[in-house]
Amino acid sequence: MADWKGKSIVITGASSGIGEATAERFVKEGANVVLAARREDRLAEIQSRLQPYAGEVKIKATDVTSQQEVEALIQYAIREHNQVDVLFNNAGLMPLSFMKNTKVDEWDRMIDVNIKGVLYGIAAVLPHMLERNEGHILTTSSIAGHEVMPSGAVYCGTKFAARVIMEGLGKEIAKSNVRTTTISPGVVETELTNTITDLEVQEMMKQGFGEGMVPLESSDIGEAVFYAVNQPQNVDVGEIIVKPTNQQ
Ligand code: NDP
Repeated sequence: MADWKGKSIVITGASSGIGEATAERFVKEGANVVLAARREDRLAEIQSRLQPYAGEVKIKATDVTSQQEVEALIQYAIREHNQVDVLFNNAGLMPLSFMKNTKVDEWDRMIDVNIKGVLYGIAAVLPHMLERNEGHILTTSSIAGHEVMPSGAVYCGTKFAARVIMEGLGKEIAKSNVRTTTISPGVVETELTNTITDLEVQEMMKQGFGEGMVPLESSDIGEAVFYAVNQPQNVDVGEIIVKPTNQQ
């Protein structure tokens, strides 16, 4: 297993759920972590909670829909921790809705966060990693990046896009030592559904995703991220799909 002391990871969407759990996994291993999201108060709470562990935790309020802010995030991490070894593009929104309800603002926001946010992360960190000829970029797609469900036309579209962008990036930089991984979770118990405003979808969600299904915990995904980046340099984990055992 790699020695994470002195290594640096930047995580977007780190103010809750999967991002927070992944940060905890790496800090406990001694990695230096920069937590990024919009809610600075939440980031500060997580920073205090993780303070006792081995790695150094910094926070940077960042809206991933702003290319300037994402660029500033990466530059901040390089200044504070000398380099960025891992970028986890994890920020995302899931305001599911039926297309007939034309929630165009929500479509825009999903495209801005789930696709453009990922692209801005890649743009900010890729030159740095290629210059060092090392590093690892991971992006959270989803099971929804493999199959589309009613009310998920736009969300799934963004997650398909994120997965395909990562696959394309991986192919383009295959001759370098920079690695790419797509993380595709099934249902994880987080705050993700809080952004759903479509009443029909809220009703549908109450019926669940399959009898007896126990959602994953965010730490299950943190573990998958940790697995991907801990492989020997010649092993490139292209994608990890992790779902609850009973999810249909
Ligand atoms: P959470 O709602 O707990 O986390 C979402 C994170 O994204 C928050 O930290 C939020 O922080 C951040 N975020 C949202 N918008 C922005 C923005 N404009 N700029 C910066 N950060 C932003 O949900 P999850 O942990 O579940 O979600 C993490 C990722 O996992 C998402 O990409 C999601 O699509 C994906 N996913 C989740 C699944 C699940 O079942 N939970 C399944 C498959 C994929 P803040 O509001 O402070 O900015």
